[in-house]
Amino acid sequence: MVVESEFLMNKKTWRQDLYKKYPMLFAQKNLDMKQTCMCWGIECNYGWSSILDTTCTNIMGYWEHHKTTDEYKEDLKNHDEDYGPYEPQFVQIKEKYGGLRLYINNGSDRIYKIIARAENASYLICEQCGTSINVTSEGSWILTLCNKCRRDMHKWTLKKWINQMPSRIKWWLKRKKRKWLSPKKN
Ligand SMILES: [Zn+2]
Repeated sequence: MVVESEFLMNKKTWRQDLYKKYPMLFAQKNLDMKQTCMCWGIECNYGWSSILDTTCTNIMGYWEHHKTTDEYKEDLKNHDEDYGPYEPQFVQIKEKYGGLRLYINNGSDRIYKIIARAENASYLICEQCGTSINVTSEGSWILTLCNKCRRDMHKWTLKKWINQMPSRIKWWLKRKKRKWLSPKKN
């Protein structure tokens, strides 16, 4: 599956756009940190925005058609009157071990299936740029990235590391023109 750029959301406003598009699902966005982890917002990068958009559309589609049926009420898990409203709402959205994690209250079996599909898809899509080409989940801090974004991340980390060095060492490195300062392009 290749994610075309036209399906990707606006790079600058995608989080706000999702909050606006699905107010019910993101209702906990403005609650206190004692009540929800959703107060921190969506804690993953732009590349997964289209997965989130599709997932929200699917959950809303299911909800709109089934919310009043007995089937849904029976299917409803975790529903506790004290816990909050009857509507499904995200409690937390984050990246963990290279995968997307979606936590929701008042989910049904069907909603958990939609969420599982999104979490599985995230391992195939670069969290940074959204491509599905040359994507791997690896690194000491496991992240799902394409080759290009992984190279950029390594360059950035190396640059930051070098910048923090004392200037005498930087000068010595420059003089030696050590090969590992310019990562190989493949
Ligand atoms: Zn990428």
